[in-house]
Amino acid sequence: MRIKADTERCIGAGMCALTAPKVFDQSEEDGTVLLLVDEPAAEDEAAVRRAVQVCPSGALSLD
Ligand code: SF4
Repeated sequence: MRIKADTERCIGAGMCALTAPKVFDQSEEDGTVLLLVDEPAAEDEAAVRRAVQVCPSGALSLD
């Protein structure tokens, strides 16, 4: 699983960082998403899928 984050679409809502804090963080500057890893460990995949679903802007996608 590989994560893609579109920082142009991200509105800085922070749901991803709350849902999967080992994988997502937010920029201190503007709150947009930062990927801590782009290929999450197997144990984090379920949280990553939830984060993609709860992102309100559709900025996250999976390959
Ligand atoms: S949940 Fe979506 S909109 Fe919110 S910070 Fe994460 S990627 Fe951006």
